[in-house]
Amino acid sequence: MSNSLSSELLTGIAHKYGTPVYIYDTEKISSQYHSLTNEFSDQSVRFFYACKALTNISILKHIHALGASFDCSSINEVKLARYAGIPAEKILYTSNSIAFSEIEEAQKEGVHINIDSLSNLEKFGKKFGNSYPVGIRLRPNIMAGGNINISTGHAKSKFGIPIEKIDEVIDLVEQYNLNIAVLHVHTGSEISDVGLYMKGVHVLLDLAQKFPTVHTLDLGGGFKVPYEEGDTRTDIHLLAEEIRNAFDLAKQNTGREYKIWFEPGKYMVSECGYFVVSVTVLKETAATTFAGVDSGFNHLIRPMFYGSYHHIENLSNPGDEKKKYSVVGNICETDTFAWEREIAEIREGDLLVFRNAGAYGMEMASNFNSRFKPAEVMVKDGKPQLIRKRDTLEDLLKNQVI
Ligand SMILES: *Cc1c(COP(=O)(O)O)cnc(C)c1O
Repeated sequence: MSNSLSSELLTGIAHKYGTPVYIYDTEKISSQYHSLTNEFSDQSVRFFYACKALTNISILKHIHALGASFDCSSINEVKLARYAGIPAEKILYTSNSIAFSEIEEAQKEGVHINIDSLSNLEKFGKKFGNSYPVGIRLRPNIMAGGNINISTGHAKSKFGIPIEKIDEVIDLVEQYNLNIAVLHVHTGSEISDVGLYMKGVHVLLDLAQKFPTVHTLDLGGGFKVPYEEGDTRTDIHLLAEEIRNAFDLAKQNTGREYKIWFEPGKYMVSECGYFVVSVTVLKETAATTFAGVDSGFNHLIRPMFYGSYHHIENLSNPGDEKKKYSVVGNICETDTFAWEREIAEIREGDLLVFRNAGAYGMEMASNFNSRFKPAEVMVKDGKPQLIRKRDTLEDLLKNQVI
């Protein structure tokens, strides 16, 4: 794995700020962003970082400084992005299942909005008519993505307006003279197959012909990064080439040109993240040797929620012989990070690091079992800086009315 933070640096941060701790390498975020902009440099493309992957304000500011725009999944993410100093024009709110009042708030903020239901589209039409350009999230009925929980474009998915309802969309557009600026699809996360990605693109290119006001096609996120040795990564070079061809052909056939938006989340921040924990207890049983750590699915839920793999290394004893361990958390529920994983010999007190912990790690953390949420540290220009303090007992009590 390339340009990674050194074990010495990670160990030093763990000693200084304690464990469990999330550590982010801003250089890796920059290089991921540039790997996208380089491949698409000859096309009219904007990248909206899907900030639900990791919303720490310092990270948002870093990504803003790179020149990226931001895709938000809630009105609070819109407000956090504004707080981080990001101008409204660089913010997109792609909503689902939300009260219309949030869309009204987003309109007041002046951000781009993608609407994902007929009912909110109708409310939008009644209130704003053609005074505010708007995007529509469509559901292309394509099965794509790493697993069913992160597939969002298939025929049973709650996301988007199903394309079989397109005539009703057009009726609303005519009735309220809506200014539809953007058509959007996001078919899922961890789409490694460029061909599958292109299916969604072709659906949009076809449907855009029904909407003369559309000037942008928003192709969503879902680029895959490797988590496991031998894992694939979405071939961005190939994707850029196929998109160039598809949009050139559409221009030849229809005379129309579109701007392109993407919404990468995981691709931007997964690999920048390191989650460091301490081994609290070793327990030998007939089935396996457990390495219990000072964390659990309350801090990193992906293995239990999605069955995700996170590579684990022993920072304190890296050169020693590998043995099989089941790495488990301290939560009072089955809480397995890895089963029978080969790791350099573990001793109580050793530091373990989980890789690919930047996306949907801290962001999905909770206080279950009344545990404190971890601290977050950002490494910039080689220097670590604390960007979120570890919780304290006051945080657990803060909103309780006693
Ligand atoms: C979650 C999400 C993304 C980002 O998905 P990744 O798999 O992290 O790239 C992009 N767009 C929308 C609308 C999303 O909900």
